[in-house]
Amino acid sequence: MAENSPSYMAANYRAELVGVLGDPVAENPTGVMQEAAFRAVGLNWRYLTIQVKPDELADAIRGVRAFGMRGINLTIPHKVEVMQYLDEVAPDAQKIGAVNTVRRVGDQLVGENTDGKGFLRGLQIDAGFNPAGKRAAILGAGGAARAISTELALAGAADLIVVNRSHSRGEQMVNDVRQRTGAVISLVPWNETYVVPLEVDLLVNATSVGLCPQVDAMPDISLERARPDLLVSDVVFNPPETRLLRAARERGLPTLDGLSMLVYQGVIGFELWTGRDAPEAVMKEALERALGLA
Ligand code: NDP
Repeated sequence: MAENSPSYMAANYRAELVGVLGDPVAENPTGVMQEAAFRAVGLNWRYLTIQVKPDELADAIRGVRAFGMRGINLTIPHKVEVMQYLDEVAPDAQKIGAVNTVRRVGDQLVGENTDGKGFLRGLQIDAGFNPAGKRAAILGAGGAARAISTELALAGAADLIVVNRSHSRGEQMVNDVRQRTGAVISLVPWNETYVVPLEVDLLVNATSVGLCPQVDAMPDISLERARPDLLVSDVVFNPPETRLLRAARERGLPTLDGLSMLVYQGVIGFELWTGRDAPEAVMKEALERALGLA
């Protein structure tokens, strides 16, 4: 038999595993873009979308270790709870107080947060906006708002205004971000229409207002006094064309949609897990196809 005959080649049928744990999780589209990326660069990796009930998270993380998974994403409701089961949490994720990505380093599980970093990368690449020295108003005080505010502060934003309905939640977030990053940050109670002031350079909707099926909903804001180059961004990615972004475009303002953040948090996750550059265009296209946009 010839030496290069297939029968002499070592077979490897074992795929490397990553995935997402959440509840609910069935509609999370991240797997589509990660699997497209693995195929594009020729990696035998699989991304599993796994429903895990809150009281089964500890067992699920033991499973991640037992299966030798290379990493995992966390989504609602596990981003905070997971921290206690990890060996290490990266400093930025500690500042945010939540983990959305875990990577395996040797036999250690290390928590990271790519939500705010994904938003920032989109801001810079897709909108050409550098937050250093700029003023931003953030609508909302939940997980997305925390991650984005923390990363904006770490990137040198001059001033952050948090606008939130629930005073206690808003105050807690403002205090945490100020204490952990040294940011200049203040809270505006959201009990009437928020008129975006002239001095604000960036507006971020980090609430779920506008999310499918409430596609006609719009955050209670006014752009009447906004500066003519105010960048209006939305974390809502389903649909990416929200009523807020439409209203901004009608006034001639530049916009950034939630797909950008979703793609770049996935790009950063891919890089953390595989150590390779991510095929960004492939990932974006796969996601757009999955959401019926391409
Ligand atoms: P949370 O539940 O942690 O926070 C939701 C926030 O929205 C709260 O501050 C809440 O205010 C506010 N809110 C909800 N409804 C209203 C309303 N009608 N009017 C005013 N404020 C409202 O959610 P997350 O932060 O985890 O997620 C927020 C959004 O971000 C979701 O749509 C999610 O899909 C999206 N997201 C997008 C990502 C991306 O990659 N593009 C990544 C992560 C999240 P209050 O405190 O007063 O209740």
